[in-house]
Formats: sequence, C-alpha cells, structure tokens
Amino acid sequence: MTDTLIQNADVILTMDDNRAELNGADILIRDGVIAAVGQGLVGGDAEVFNAAGKIVTPGLVNTHHHLYQTLTRAVPGAQDALLFGWLQRLYPIWSRFGPEEMFVSAQAGLAELALSGCTMTSDHLYLYPNGARLDDTIAAASEVGLRFHATRGAMSIGESDGGLPPDALVEDEAAILKDSIRVIDAFHDPNPGAMVRVGVAPCSPFSVSRDLMRDAALLARDKGVMMHTHLAENDEDIAYSLEKFGCRPGQYAEDLGWTGDDVWHAHCVKLDEQEIDLFARSRTGVAHCPCSNCRLGSGIAPIRGMRDAGVPVGLGVDGSASNDIGNLAGEARMAMLLQRVQSGADAMSAREALEIATRGGAQVLGRDDCGQIAIGKRADVAIWDAQCVENAGSWDPAALLLAGPAKVSALYVEGRQIVYDGHMQTLDMDKTIARQNALARKLAERG
Ligand SMILES: [Zn+2]
Repeated sequence: MTDTLIQNADVILTMDDNRAELNGADILIRDGVIAAVGQGLVGGDAEVFNAAGKIVTPGLVNTHHHLYQTLTRAVPGAQDALLFGWLQRLYPIWSRFGPEEMFVSAQAGLAELALSGCTMTSDHLYLYPNGARLDDTIAAASEVGLRFHATRGAMSIGESDGGLPPDALVEDEAAILKDSIRVIDAFHDPNPGAMVRVGVAPCSPFSVSRDLMRDAALLARDKGVMMHTHLAENDEDIAYSLEKFGCRPGQYAEDLGWTGDDVWHAHCVKLDEQEIDLFARSRTGVAHCPCSNCRLGSGIAPIRGMRDAGVPVGLGVDGSASNDIGNLAGEARMAMLLQRVQSGADAMSAREALEIATRGGAQVLGRDDCGQIAIGKRADVAIWDAQCVENAGSWDPAALLLAGPAKVSALYVEGRQIVYDGHMQTLDMDKTIARQNALARKLAERG
C-alpha cells in the first residue's frame, strides 16, 4: 500500500499518553500503521491529504451496538415504552429477520457510524432467526471497512420458561456454545492490527440461564476472547436480579466469572458504589450509552464516579431501536452533557469525553494498538472540517464536541480511506439506503 501523508492539520488531538495537541502538524501512515507524527514531515512519494482547515482525532470507538436494529428505528408502539415493554413490542418484528436483513442493516449502521468518525465498533447480535448468522454482519463489516468486534450473543430463556423473549427467538444452550466455537475458530484474529475479533455475549441476565452465563465465561477464557453483556440497565433490571437471583447484578456477574479486563458490560446505569469498586479492582469495562439511557428513561450512569475510581469506560450508541441515531460524535457530546446534568458544568470536559470516545473505547475492547495517534499505533484517523458552519467562530478544538461538526470530512481505517469529502468510499450509499428502506417497509407492512 502507498504511504499516506496527512499534512498541515490545524490541530491534531493525539490522545497519546501526554494528550499532546499539535498545531500545523502531519501524520505519516505506512502499511496501516502510524509511522510518524509531527510538523514538517516529508512523505516521499506518499499520497498527500491536505488537512489545512481540519481537526484531526483518533478514530472513535463504539463499544456497544445492535446493528440489526437500524431496520427498526422509531417503531410505533416502541417509541415511548420502558425497556421491558419496548422489547416485547420489538421481539416479534425481529423474529422475521433473516440473513439479508442482518447484512443490509449492518451495512447501513456501519456507514452511519463511519460518517460520525467511528473506525472500530463492536456489535452485539443475540438473535439468529431464519438462518441468520454472525457471518452476515462480519461480511458487511469487511465490505464497509471498519474494524469490527463481532460478539456471538444469545438468548435461551423464552416466555414458556419465564423469560422475556418469545420462544421462537431463543436457542438451545448447547447449540449456542457450539456456534460460538465455530465463529471464534472461523473469524477471531488475536493479532495486533486485527480487523475482526469475536467475543462471547449472552444477551442479558434476564434472557439466559446461570449455566449459560458461566459456560460462556469458561469458553471465552479457554479461547482467549472477550465477553460482553447488558448489565444493571435500569430499575426493572435491578428488581429482576434481586427477585430471581437474590443479589444485585454486580454480585451476579462476579459469581459467574463475569468480571475482569476481558469483560465489558453495556449500560451499568444502576451500579452502586460497591459495584463500581468491584469493576475498578477487576478492571471490568463499561460501555456507556447515554442517548439510549435517555431514550428509554433508564437514568444517568455514574460515569464521573466510575472514571474517578479507575473503571475503564467507553461509549456505545446502542441499537438503533433505542437511540435511534448511530452517530458516535453525538454520543460523546451527550456523555459530556449528561454528567453535567448530574454533577455540574465541571463534571466532564469536551476533551475528556473525546478521550472516552477514543482511547477509552479502545481500552474497553482490549485494543492497546488503537485509540490514539502515536507512532506504532494502527492508522485509524478521523478528520473533521473546522471550516464548516457548526465550527465557525470557535476558539478552541473543544468546539468539536461543544459545537460540531458531528460528521467527518474524511476517515482512515488501517490506513485505508473509508470516507472522503463527507462521502463513503466503500459503499454505494444510495443503493444501501434504498435496500434498507425496502426491507423496513416489508417488515412494517406486517406490523
Ligand atoms: Zn444494547
């Protein structure tokens, strides 16, 4: 691959170990890796990207999503419901999905993320109706070109066993473990620079058994892959845990092996002080999803307390049935604003929110090769137009989150240009959107 020289950026917010901010600086990319950062770099025959008038940041990292849900945005009947009622409205619709729905919705969701500055995302796919497979979303990600942490999710406790999902959406636990092994063996790349990793991810404590939670943890550790689930999302979730398991979610997680630096939990809105301490001591990660938490009225996660205690925190847009936007820059802004609602205007700066969105997310996903602009790190770079109207009149690059823009001008993943001049370079967006809308219409016709 030809070298790339990103030249003369107004400012590069490196998010390196010193949080260096470089004015009028360049980045040299070679073989997917950042080879040099600084002023006056010489690129030889490198392809030059003129970054004058641009703000450059590490690519943003999304730590929680359900890409398939981009086909169920703003569904009537689920727009104003609480978590459990929301799920019960959507489950029957999702049960009509198949491989094509999984592939197309993932493409649309990944493009939406890319345009908002995201270079690496995880996805939590926990239902496999009508022949759908994790392979469908991995195929979509390799086409779009984002770094992809697919997780093999699962639900095993259906309505007839006292669970929330309909029986048609749950799977046999032995089959879940068998397919988890299949996709790990087929797709997981443990090496630095990996474009695809696979994790193990039972949906939530209220949709799988204790046995599956424990067995999934054993399997993940045997295979050396990460583990992910939803935890302590709202008051209903805590009440369910106390009633069914006789303990709070933190205790439940710890008892079943679901703490450690190879584990990250989505939401954690309701973690109490002891649970925050447990997560900090065990280096258990949190995927903070502020817009989803607002949308479902779940509450404000205690991110200030978690960060102060040393809990690794990243951001997640969550599925598009509960946000319903997959814009990660917007999510970082909301993370900053919500901590201020809870704890005052000095509770979180724009720079800290950007740090959570970049190196914070990379840490949560176990990727010390990503999340910052420094020599030797992977060349995942977001380039933002400082000349656009949203940014006009700003005095400081903190305006990126305080003002805008919320969409990138250009995006590089592993040194490959994915977005240029605000447009996807790897997908025909008109076709993708038309295909997505046709599928959504078909689903909506059946209500
Ligand atoms: Zn979720």
